[in-house]
Amino acid sequence: LSVPQPANEPVKEYRVGSVERTALRNALQAAKAETRELPMWINGQSVFTKNKLKVTPPHEHAHVLGYINEGDKEHVQQAIDAALSARAAWGAMSWEHRASIFLKAAELLAGPYRAKINAATMLGQSKNVYQAEIDSACELIDFLRFNVHYATEIYKQQPYSPTGVWNRVEYRPLEGFVFALTPFNFTAIAGNLPTSAALMGNTVVWKPAYTQAYSAQVIVEVLQESGLPDGVINLIYVDGPEAGEVIFNHPDFAGIHFTGSTSVFQTIWQTIGQNIAKYKSYPRIVGETGGKDFIFVHNTANVDEAVVAMVRGAFEYQGQKCSAASRAYIPTSLWAAIRAGVQETLKSQKMGRVEEFECLFNAVIDERAFNKITGYIDQATKDGATIIAGGNYSKETGYFIEPTVIQVADPKYRTMCDELFGPVLTVYVYEDDQLEDTLTILDQTSPYALTGAILAKDRATIDYLTKRLVNSAGNFYINDKPTGAVVGQQPFGGARASGTNDKAGSSLNLLRWVSMRTIKETL
Ligand code: GLU
Repeated sequence: LSVPQPANEPVKEYRVGSVERTALRNALQAAKAETRELPMWINGQSVFTKNKLKVTPPHEHAHVLGYINEGDKEHVQQAIDAALSARAAWGAMSWEHRASIFLKAAELLAGPYRAKINAATMLGQSKNVYQAEIDSACELIDFLRFNVHYATEIYKQQPYSPTGVWNRVEYRPLEGFVFALTPFNFTAIAGNLPTSAALMGNTVVWKPAYTQAYSAQVIVEVLQESGLPDGVINLIYVDGPEAGEVIFNHPDFAGIHFTGSTSVFQTIWQTIGQNIAKYKSYPRIVGETGGKDFIFVHNTANVDEAVVAMVRGAFEYQGQKCSAASRAYIPTSLWAAIRAGVQETLKSQKMGRVEEFECLFNAVIDERAFNKITGYIDQATKDGATIIAGGNYSKETGYFIEPTVIQVADPKYRTMCDELFGPVLTVYVYEDDQLEDTLTILDQTSPYALTGAILAKDRATIDYLTKRLVNSAGNFYINDKPTGAVVGQQPFGGARASGTNDKAGSSLNLLRWVSMRTIKETL
């Protein structure tokens, strides 16, 4: 068995005058010139409905990108039926042929579709060019290519056979359909969750976040052009609880591949638990959920590195990454220098529409997010916290919130504990000699354990912190920001309330989408 050796897709830089910059400009222009229908996609067919929901860029209310065609329970049933009818042929196809469809999709995204999907992610989700490139181009391409490689690793694992016996293992698809429920914040995740399950021979019902509909549409185009057979992946836009009622009551529900909020995941898990006797098999439950990711700065840290980790870790993509730093613990001895560095860096950066490439900061995803985040900022001011940077916001033309740094006196203040999912970093300044107490608080104030970063130069301290915080993060960074996991390099996922830690972009994740059969033959 051999597949092309994966390497990470090189990140393009979009320098002034570059070919990719021109291509992206053209794609953005073309994208804005058209108002599109965003249909469901069931059994290979676009499905239009009367219930049209307007989609606008988060940074520009005045522009209409298109209309989601929202369906109802019947569409969910149709999607399940399509998935179940496609199952036999898809599962029986040689895995190399399934794999080549996704490798083809990766090639299309790397080449002819790159500008188109990046433009869709930029406009639909308000990502700047660099954030779009690392997501909807590189990470999605990497997922597709590396998953094929990981699948090979799985398929080639076979048991020992003594003389006179032939033992073998089959990696069968799950018996039923898989439900992929995907978030707005990464086009790559939205693409990975349905395709990884499908690669292993499953058929899928996929419900993307409505706020990711535009780039989801481009993923569908790419899958169609790659030759994905009808019914293997079926995309629906149906209200969550309504869709859930059909899906989680279905005897052939075989698993859920989820990224989203902890509370939604817990509700789903409870629903599955209540329905457990209805299913043919115990469903696989795989989820990446919330985070309250930390940066811990030790007094041996380099100040400039700490500033970069804080600014990039907390504010890239407006902090709307599960991995984004949202609480920082800074020693008193370094605080003045770090504060000045953070203030200066933030002051030098612009916020605005994604078409203005120089704007590193753009809008938050929607009004609900805007209201939630600004509510926390206002309350913090009322509660006597100090706003170190930012703090202003406006939803007049788009949902803009300045990157905001809040300093609190209480390390258990709500913005140190709750997930805001926005451009807010809360800082607690600890006394240099209060290391132990601070680490205990760090470990215990949040139910989450997704990502975390420590900054220190002293090797014994690095060793100590790494062990002391063993359960605080599924992705742990030393002298770096806590975001930007790369497929094939840092398998991604967290434990505690952050998810089942089935590491996206790893063979462990793909193993959840197969059901093994052991065959012993006496020779
Ligand atoms: N994998 C992304 C990162 O490392 C975060 C994914 C997410 O937000 O769910 O930044």
